[in-house]
Amino acid sequence: MSVLDSILEFNENFVEKKDYEQYQTSKFPDKKLVILTCMDTRLLEMLPRALNLSNGDAKIIKNAGAMISHPFGSIMRSIIVALYELQAEEVAVIGHYGCGMTGLESNSILDKAEDRGIDLAKIEAASYAGVDVDKWLHGFNDVEDSVKNSVDIIRRHPLLPANTPVHGLAISPDTGKLTVLDRAE
Ligand SMILES: [Zn+2]
Repeated sequence: MSVLDSILEFNENFVEKKDYEQYQTSKFPDKKLVILTCMDTRLLEMLPRALNLSNGDAKIIKNAGAMISHPFGSIMRSIIVALYELQAEEVAVIGHYGCGMTGLESNSILDKAEDRGIDLAKIEAASYAGVDVDKWLHGFNDVEDSVKNSVDIIRRHPLLPANTPVHGLAISPDTGKLTVLDRAE
């Protein structure tokens, strides 16, 4: 059975048994919090449990590395939407130790892409169109530096409401322990 088939089978049962009732809440975060964190599978349940977050408590935005690479990209837009439209009042960037984006170089992906039949000339065409593909695929050298950099981008953003606390943290994917890297006043 494919993963999708097993999901669909489970889902039918989930809805039929009204298992959704225990999760019903509103779209507004009860703890007025928006979190940017990593898509790492180890954090799927660990992060909400380790922060005592239940359904309805926070807006959680995820990407590879909990990185903001552009002040007017989709991650920053999500944060702005959470702050203006969804009643969030506080922001936390939570990177994690042992992140797959640590030390990631664009060559690692581009070499694999070439092995899988991608014509890299097309990628060069993107570079000519103004996209710095190497930078776009680059991870970071140190998760703590990366979190602080993302925190700076948020704090300096011209659309950030005045006095919005923006914090930077890192979580252990093994123990769930949080380390505060940069705490808003
Ligand atoms: Zn990660």
